[in-house]
Amino acid sequence: MPDVKSLDPAQRRAAHAALAARYGEFQALNMNLDMTRGKPCPEQLDLSVGLLDCLTRKEFKAADGTDCRNYGGLDGLPEAKALFAAYMGVRPEEIIIGGSSSLTLMHDTMSWAVLFGAGKGATPWAAQRPVRFLCPSPGYDRHFAICEHLGIEMLPVDLRGDGPDMDAVERLAGDDASVKGIWCVPKYSNPTGEVYSDSVVQRLAAMRTKAPDFRIFWDNAYCVHHLGSGPAQLADILEHCRRAGTPERPILFGSTSKISFAGSGLAFMAGSAATMEWARGHLGFQTIGPDKLNQLRHVRFFGDPAGVERHMQGHAAILKPKFDAVQEVLGRELAGKGVAEWTRPSGGYFTSIDTWDGCARRAIRLAAEAGVKLTPAGSTYPYKRDPRDRNIRIAPSFPPLADIRRAMEVLAVCIEMVSLENLG
Ligand code: PLP
Repeated sequence: MPDVKSLDPAQRRAAHAALAARYGEFQALNMNLDMTRGKPCPEQLDLSVGLLDCLTRKEFKAADGTDCRNYGGLDGLPEAKALFAAYMGVRPEEIIIGGSSSLTLMHDTMSWAVLFGAGKGATPWAAQRPVRFLCPSPGYDRHFAICEHLGIEMLPVDLRGDGPDMDAVERLAGDDASVKGIWCVPKYSNPTGEVYSDSVVQRLAAMRTKAPDFRIFWDNAYCVHHLGSGPAQLADILEHCRRAGTPERPILFGSTSKISFAGSGLAFMAGSAATMEWARGHLGFQTIGPDKLNQLRHVRFFGDPAGVERHMQGHAAILKPKFDAVQEVLGRELAGKGVAEWTRPSGGYFTSIDTWDGCARRAIRLAAEAGVKLTPAGSTYPYKRDPRDRNIRIAPSFPPLADIRRAMEVLAVCIEMVSLENLG
């Protein structure tokens, strides 16, 4: 397909008219397709339905005799800690099994830092305003919303395909004591799908920061969420930090929201033993203990890390065709036209499209007017402001395959139309 920039004005007009006709046909279908959020689909949730009856009426005791029906066990059952420490690549004393949402743990951790300081004896961030956070972008909108909610200024940093632009990160963190941390989704990042390289992980661990209380919020939400081509390898941030003499720097997060049930799974935070002690010191004021029956259920259901891996193959079998459909339609509709670039993720929940500058918002609006709802323009950037107005996040997990194909056709037509209009 020719690059649209190589078309002469008459050819451009003809191409636009043909696209407008297709767009009109889409509108006449009165579609109502929702591609806004990365939710598991019902078939994925069915994979975990055994969790609902894997405990019998008599099986409510943990291995150490703890009655899981009762209060207690602030940081998790020993067997749940053993299983999910292995999952997170940490030692059992380096993990807390919290409630059911890692986002809650991230929000609470940041709130503790603001109110009490990021570590034992540290000065509260609230007493050090302004506080700034590095936000590799495009990124996860809810991370950015936490910063906004807590009055933390966000500094966007570009992603380079193997993690953030480390020259920029080192400069910003090295020069300014108000830069207190960075958000990272190191594996199958939301939404670009990229995996941080060993060199990026090593530099994050070893870089000099002006703020002594600088923290890496390491959200490994998609740790085992491969799409079938084998797990990507991610370097061990905690080990790198230990070696670099920055053991308190990383705070790791994860959950089974996209393994078992979204909203009813298990959430974890991990870090050095000292960081976990600090977290327990605050957690103990907000809960008497987590839902241990759910922890017991998860341990019984999955058994061991290999059980989690096997289970994830079931998810991949459902998700891979959906991600393939996104690639197939984008390739068929847009390849060679020079109007957009898109990622080819090997895991995670998203595909990320970059249009020409200034085209994303209008393309998303046109798609909505044809019945295809996408993540709102700008959402993947701090303050919902995409400085180049070009990023579109695609979340193909929830809708059925036929809807995904149709939604991507609509979006491709909208992107090309808007690009032609921009050419004049
Ligand atoms: N972190 C990332 C990067 C996500 O994409 C999501 C959900 O989309 C979450 C965290 C939410 O996790 P949880 O359900 O454990 O709160």
